Amino acid sequence: ETLDKGLEKTKTNFFSKLSKAVAGKSKVDDDVLDNLEEVLVTSDVGVDTTLKVIERIEARVARDKYMGTDELNTILREEIADLLSETHTGEETEYSIPMDKRPYVIMVVGVNGVGKTTTIGKLAYQFKKQGLKVVLGAADTFRAAAIDQLQVWADRVDVPIVKQKMGSDPASVAFDTLSSAVSQGADVVIIDTAGRLHNKVNLMNELTKVKKVMQKVVDDTPHEVLLVLDGSTGQNAFEQAKQFTKATEVTALAVTKLDGTAKGGVVIGISDQFQIPVKYIGVGEGMEDLQVFNKYEFVDSFFK
Ligand code: GDP
Repeated sequence: ETLDKGLEKTKTNFFSKLSKAVAGKSKVDDDVLDNLEEVLVTSDVGVDTTLKVIERIEARVARDKYMGTDELNTILREEIADLLSETHTGEETEYSIPMDKRPYVIMVVGVNGVGKTTTIGKLAYQFKKQGLKVVLGAADTFRAAAIDQLQVWADRVDVPIVKQKMGSDPASVAFDTLSSAVSQGADVVIIDTAGRLHNKVNLMNELTKVKKVMQKVVDDTPHEVLLVLDGSTGQNAFEQAKQFTKATEVTALAVTKLDGTAKGGVVIGISDQFQIPVKYIGVGEGMEDLQVFNKYEFVDSFFK
């Protein structure tokens, strides 16, 4: 239900475009496919992913000889769900961490303003609600505001935070955070990292160093590198994903601010393009406004 609400704008926009695309047509032909291509591209699915979807539908039309426009909804829904399956996007239904990895360490990356801190706070809230012990680490030491903001969320959710003063070494904060988490017997550690992209080499070096230092405390960490992207920026989000996946190994995506935008199609395109699962979506500013991304709910809310 909240998903429906969160994606309301995307849905309305998509539907009106789709109905225009098939208006007056009973059969899926080249014209309809051309229109559909435009609908997907302008819904921020991205050109490459759109072409992939169109090709698959073309193949089905060729195979079945005839496809009615009334079937197009169902077929699109199947193809999109299939596409998401290929990146293991949206298979989970709840916030869960593997039983055998404690503390489970999530390193969060993304540029400033995308909703990184908010997403960390919302995640902490969800894990805590499950009875898990959460520790936050303020390793975005570049901006004082980043540390303060994370502190606000730590207070709000009532979880401990490890921080140092602005300008201190992010790797040192990460080290302290993991050490503290281990000694407290924490279940989940969420580390905020700096979000500047203007110097790719610096970013890469910094993230590599943070990882290395964390591994001194807990083997094989981070278990997850979560890239946060602002869904309302559409194609910018693609560009950021490109930069961050070059700088470090990203294992999961969180797409935020889908509540205020008609660009929800980015979820499909980004996951496909980078072959990384979208795990969470942000649909508001509140503590409860994060959702585990479930592909069935997503396609249902799109095509219902
Ligand atoms: P950061 O700089 O990446 O840490 O970004 P913040 O977490 O401080 O978020 C920037 C702004 O976006 C804040 O005003 C948040 O309340 C807002 N925000 C974050 N996530 C969402 C979301 O899913 N929906 C909406 N509408 N706003 C969000």
